[in-house]
Amino acid sequence: MDLTHIEHIGIAVKSIEEQIPFYEGILGLKCYNIETVEDQKVKTAFFMIGQTKLELLEPTSEDSTIAKFIEKRGEGVHHIAYATKSVEKALKTAEEKGVRLIDKAPRPGAEGLNIAFLHPKSTGSVLTELCEHPEK
Ligand code: ZN
Repeated sequence: MDLTHIEHIGIAVKSIEEQIPFYEGILGLKCYNIETVEDQKVKTAFFMIGQTKLELLEPTSEDSTIAKFIEKRGEGVHHIAYATKSVEKALKTAEEKGVRLIDKAPRPGAEGLNIAFLHPKSTGSVLTELCEHPEK
């Protein structure tokens, strides 16, 4: 699937503002971007560590998938995102190998990435995201 590294780890939180002191004050990371992704009904905050990001996800609406996740499982790790050279090709490979897909085709995610999710039923319950920097 041409994976290169872990692009980010998505962490579901009730409040980004309440969690920032841990990531900045304790871990010593810097929040470099806060962005709302309207179609996912989520506010995101990003921290960089090496070439990997941490992405805090706060629901902006009660019917957001993140709100439902928190309701069901509580706050915590929500998904792992792998960087790939081509999300489209990786999806095709996954599908050929019988993996259930959430997204049949890449769609725009936060920070201008093309993203797609694999279904947790096929990934040992770990929600798995593939992403690609379109400029590369
Ligand atoms: Zn993500």
